[in-house]
Amino acid sequence: MSTFFISDLHLSEQRPNIVALFLKFLGSEAKEAEALYILGDLFEYWIGDEVGSLPHVKPVLDALRSLTDSGVPVYIMHGNRDFLLGKQFASATGCQLINDPVVIKLNGKNVLLMHGDTLCTDDTDYIKFRSFVRNPVWQADFLGKSIDERIAIANNYREMSKTAMNEKPAEIMDTNQEAVADTMSKHGVQTLIHGHTHRPNKHEFELAGNQVTRFVLGDWYEQGSMLVCNEQGCSLENLR
Ligand code: MN
Repeated sequence: MSTFFISDLHLSEQRPNIVALFLKFLGSEAKEAEALYILGDLFEYWIGDEVGSLPHVKPVLDALRSLTDSGVPVYIMHGNRDFLLGKQFASATGCQLINDPVVIKLNGKNVLLMHGDTLCTDDTDYIKFRSFVRNPVWQADFLGKSIDERIAIANNYREMSKTAMNEKPAEIMDTNQEAVADTMSKHGVQTLIHGHTHRPNKHEFELAGNQVTRFVLGDWYEQGSMLVCNEQGCSLENLR
């Protein structure tokens, strides 16, 4: 049996085809998985668990629930878009929220899982913004606001992020190799799986005398993308 890793679906009301593709995936391929890991940015935005009742979200929650009910464990990590996924989401879907970073055992080996945004250390503006919105005091204040206020704030941040991304050179928004090496050494792993950069790839390099591997998951903009891991190893696959 295989373990599946996906990320960066960015599900939203603007992309009904991808919502439909994900629903199909949850009802077919995912049912055969030993476990499904969603490494962040399942949703384009998440302003609080009340979002769960929106028409493009409710079917996703129900499909996740029937998958976990069928016995497939689903683990989900916060991304930079949906970091407010909370307890209500977890109890509605049966998904287990996992920390970023986290080390899991996969076919007898320790594997580090991350969303990937914290590896993009060259983007100092973003790193500053991240520590601001990940502050529990800011989050409690935000979640205490009305839905309309939260939507307005989120739209404002998304606009700011779009403008900032247009102004930044592409390398700045990729992972920093030193940050990758440091993080893998710190956790004592030879395999890292992350998303966020939307640059699906398998990177092999030497770290402290060992050949190590970093898998980058693809986004779900044009098609589905996942990393399939079993005893034979891991490979990136597309879903149409
Ligand atoms: Mn991301």
